[in-house]
Amino acid sequence: MNLPPAVSSLIARLNGAGFSAYAVGGCVRDALLAKAPHDWDLCTSARPEQMLEVFRGEHVVETGLKHGTLTVVLDHVPYEITTFRTDGVYTDHRHPDSVTFVSDVAGDLARRDFTVNAMAYAPREGLVDLFGGREDLQKKIIRCVGVPAERFEEDALRILRALRFASVYDFTVDPETDKALRLLAPTLKKVAAERIRVELLKLLCGAGAGRILRTYPDVLAVVIPEIAPMVGYDQQNHHHHFDLWEHTVQAVENIPPESDLRLTMLLHDMGKPSVRSMDEKGEAHYYNHQSASAEIADRVTDDLRCDREMKDRVIRLVRYHDITLRTQSGDVNLSRPFLLRMLNRFGERDLRALIEIHCADRTATGYSSPEREQARMAERMAALDALLAEQPCFTLKDLAVNGNDLKPLGFRGPALGNALQQLLQAVMDGKVPNEKEVLLDFVTKFIKI
Ligand code: ATP
Ligand code: MG
Repeated sequence: MNLPPAVSSLIARLNGAGFSAYAVGGCVRDALLAKAPHDWDLCTSARPEQMLEVFRGEHVVETGLKHGTLTVVLDHVPYEITTFRTDGVYTDHRHPDSVTFVSDVAGDLARRDFTVNAMAYAPREGLVDLFGGREDLQKKIIRCVGVPAERFEEDALRILRALRFASVYDFTVDPETDKALRLLAPTLKKVAAERIRVELLKLLCGAGAGRILRTYPDVLAVVIPEIAPMVGYDQQNHHHHFDLWEHTVQAVENIPPESDLRLTMLLHDMGKPSVRSMDEKGEAHYYNHQSASAEIADRVTDDLRCDREMKDRVIRLVRYHDITLRTQSGDVNLSRPFLLRMLNRFGERDLRALIEIHCADRTATGYSSPEREQARMAERMAALDALLAEQPCFTLKDLAVNGNDLKPLGFRGPALGNALQQLLQAVMDGKVPNEKEVLLDFVTKFIKI
């Protein structure tokens, strides 16, 4: 295994002072999978104060000395180094009440969650794999270290972590681990929302996300209760081939693996059961399900403690997920004024997202071919590209006049804002070019104070 030079040198310095030290956990797993680890964590027999001694003179951050962790920064890259430890009793299913430092790596590996995460490597000692992690990597299996039920009872977050790793690496869950995580799923309620969010979003963005969502809706319903009634929910509508959960899962699979987009697809139709109405032909309709889903998105993003930006974006994308770029008569409308209006309303990033969302959603109905929907999306994106290449004006910021230009003409307060809006609209509709002199002339002629 190739360690980065900085990691080798940290290990060598600890060895030089008489301590053992290893790269451990996720980085070893990723290196064995031939994936570039995003960070390198180390563990060592040195106690925190001994590490401080060894790395005197280096840029050291005392990350969590009580838990045995400090960070050494080499060439602006942080490396976390933690004293070998076992975890004490977990009374709250969240974090150990205490940690105990131990002298060998075996004890440290035994406290880790899954076999694939419980390997250590050092140039001198080679790979330390006490629980069959390498074999499980080859077999693509997520398996608890030790007795699964005990491990999930200690820290219920591991339930979601198991599904997250199974999704990200496209692994299956070992039967014993599977059984225990289903049994203990209700204890996920006790886990801090921030920790749940991190794992859930990674799960949603994983290569196996669709399979995990299909296989474990009951577990995920502990976190988002609205999932439960979606499973097997007959949509009774001829535009929909699949039940509501299967449709949702496919919609998630069809969108690029970015957290905002994947969460949007998970939530986009969640409000449907609450707004169903039946017509005389026995067909179900879901008027205003967009708003009902947006309300659920509002609560779910709160529950998950998403930051403001993510929350607002997801709610907006859920609310407008059905935007179709059509005229009232149903024709696709890619006219310049219409696209500019949409750009003004949503901004480029969200408008592009809404086009992708529409494609993912339509494809997931089972009544439209992926090729046809892809072609439609490409046509819409191409129209946007062509329009944006002209750097058109679609916000007040782009307008060739601003408030200060209108004040000398007598505009003040709301009238000023109103005049600017009317100008912007006229420019977007192509009634007047975006040129200062022409706009000022237009104001004096057509806009009342
Ligand atoms: P990622 O690549 O997403 O960072 P990772 O495996 O490094 O994955 P981290 O959350 O960074 O995951 O944790 C680092 C290591 O610490 C894990 O590989 C695992 O050995 C151990 N670990 C993390 N969380 C837990 C937990 N809740 N219970 C037991 N061990 C854990
Ligand atoms: Mg990590």
